[in-house]
Amino acid sequence: MTPVFIVFFGPPGCGKGTQAKKITEELGLTQISTGDLFRKHLGEKTPLGLKAQEYMSKGELVPDDITISMVRERLQEPDVATGAIFDGFPRTGAQAQALDDLLKEFESDVTMVVDFALPIEISRERLMGRQEGRADDKPEVIEKRLNDHQAVEDSVMPHYRGKADLVKEVDAERGIDEIYEDVRALIQSVLN
Ligand code: ADP
Repeated sequence: MTPVFIVFFGPPGCGKGTQAKKITEELGLTQISTGDLFRKHLGEKTPLGLKAQEYMSKGELVPDDITISMVRERLQEPDVATGAIFDGFPRTGAQAQALDDLLKEFESDVTMVVDFALPIEISRERLMGRQEGRADDKPEVIEKRLNDHQAVEDSVMPHYRGKADLVKEVDAERGIDEIYEDVRALIQSVLN
């Protein structure tokens, strides 16, 4: 089976992490969430985690070199052989280019980009109501992540929009199960 590599893109609070978890449980793909990886490093107090914390706590992007080398390392693990869902990566043009380069080692490419569309005010409501106790879910940090999302979109999406039919938009304003139905259908269409 050729590996499939799918990018989940969308604003904070759009639910892409939840959807990625559900899809990986059902379809056996691997979820690579750079936010989760940073939080794992942080929990283990690794040098990378402590470095990342400086940025995460302010709602800033962790520098590309740190982020890209973490993803490069993650891609060496055996569970990626069948493919992966990237959640929260890439977030810059340089990361998008680096991902293409990394996937060449799998003789592969980004198979699909699922764009979770959500108005910014809904995103804000969801994050303000999130009770996971994340250190970066403080109101001022949430505002910064929301404000910066447009810039993230402007640097990442042009990389993919030029490629025919690569980007699939999903209406993320609905309930988890309705969104999931669409996401699953999209992913199944590239697995078969
Ligand atoms: P959210 O999408 O809800 O903001 P994430 O868990 O995806 O949350 O990311 C949390 C934080 O981790 C980001 O605000 C940023 O500091 C850092 N981060 C995650 N992914 C990346 C990335 N690809 N590049 C740079 N920083 C990242």
